[in-house]
Amino acid sequence: MEHKLYIYNTLSRKKEQFIPLHENTVGMYVCGPTVYGDAHLGHARPAITFDILFRYLQHLGYKVRYVRNITDVGHLENDADSGEDKIAKKARLERLEPMEVVQYYVNRYHKAMEALNVMPPSIEPHASGHIMEQIEFTQKILDAGFAYESEGSVYFDVVKYNETNNYGILSGRNIDEMLETTRDLDGQSEKRRSVDFALWKKASPEHIMRWKAPWSDGFPGWHMECSAMGTKYLGEEFDIHGGGMDLMFPHHECEIAQNKAGLGKDTVKYWMHNNMITIGGQKMGKSLGNFIQLHEFFEGTHKLLSKAFSPMTIRFFILQAHYRSTVDFSSEALEASEKGLERLMDGYARLQKLTPSATSTVNTVGLRAKCEEALNDDLNTPITISYLFEALKAINLVHDGKATISAADLSELQSVFKLMVEDLLGLKVETAATGTNDAYKKAIDMLLAMRLEAKRNKDWATSDKIRNELTAFGFEIKDTKDGFEWKM
Ligand code: ZN
Repeated sequence: MEHKLYIYNTLSRKKEQFIPLHENTVGMYVCGPTVYGDAHLGHARPAITFDILFRYLQHLGYKVRYVRNITDVGHLENDADSGEDKIAKKARLERLEPMEVVQYYVNRYHKAMEALNVMPPSIEPHASGHIMEQIEFTQKILDAGFAYESEGSVYFDVVKYNETNNYGILSGRNIDEMLETTRDLDGQSEKRRSVDFALWKKASPEHIMRWKAPWSDGFPGWHMECSAMGTKYLGEEFDIHGGGMDLMFPHHECEIAQNKAGLGKDTVKYWMHNNMITIGGQKMGKSLGNFIQLHEFFEGTHKLLSKAFSPMTIRFFILQAHYRSTVDFSSEALEASEKGLERLMDGYARLQKLTPSATSTVNTVGLRAKCEEALNDDLNTPITISYLFEALKAINLVHDGKATISAADLSELQSVFKLMVEDLLGLKVETAATGTNDAYKKAIDMLLAMRLEAKRNKDWATSDKIRNELTAFGFEIKDTKDGFEWKM
């Protein structure tokens, strides 16, 4: 396949040309949400980042199998091997079945993702639906001698593994430092060392999410699900594994160790991580009260928000930064994104209505190549967007009658905008007036045509009445040289 896509591999810490393991197909796994609460801004970033990659790989001609999991068991409160299961806790507090909690938040997650125009993955496996696979994987690691059983639980032997492998290869952590800085176990723990992590946990009597395994009635450790489901659906070696940078350690480091220990090989060719979103320079966190849920953006109901922001504004805001840079959220920054998106979408709408001339006095040639070059450079969406903004200047000049564009140039420009704006960046027109509701659009057009007619007849009363009343309903009406433009 002819392309020069380079992606930053977190494992090698450099940009590498993307060459898939199998000629025309790509296997891609991304860690999805733990479904015990509503999706927030932190969930939007990996979903949108890997949505761009999913779309771009397909544009390059690959058949992509995109697996994004749902964590619905085994994610304990402190992300390691102690504390209550996050979903079981929510179920206990709400007096629901754990699977009711899971279903409720999965439905809401899907709704938020659809609003953000994130394409659904090819497979969305649940951890709770793959307990057998996780037990089998754990057994493989035990058989290979890299895990031990203790009091009905199974732990990964990190020190043993590190004798012949590199635990820390992804995150750059040093095991000796970790052993020094973590406090000694008091002898009460089932684990041999503090760095060891659970592959299987024996369930306490009150723990409701439990399954039968050779070692105990219990449940899998959090990291195990991604080893089991990734290799089940994508094979023992696959191309891309993604997720947020916060998952690099321990989650992905442990997954690498599990796969190498259980299968005797490295599973993933390219590891990709999106950076985090901060709020006013601070990390997002429940305790800081700055966890803004996506529906709070759409409804404008969080105290840190000046108003409601549409899903496309959130998407555009995220795409205006490169996925490996941090993004600092503020209401002002979102307002700026909203204005930028409006300019882009207005220009895109204008582009559809331009009339070609015999020759071009604007230069838009090469836009496609420049945008593709930016995406090939580790999915540089902010640069892609800046090229589109440059092209907007030409569109506006032609629209205002100050420049001309030939039919061939116009058709190419329209095609590039469609590809970049809609297909790859995944931005869609949001007003109810366009696209979805054609009859409504025609009705407004008809009213404004009547107003134009009234103006021509110098019937100012009728003309003003139509304009004022539509403005009162929230329409913005602009007179142009050929007639009018309007939006909601
Ligand atoms: Zn995972």
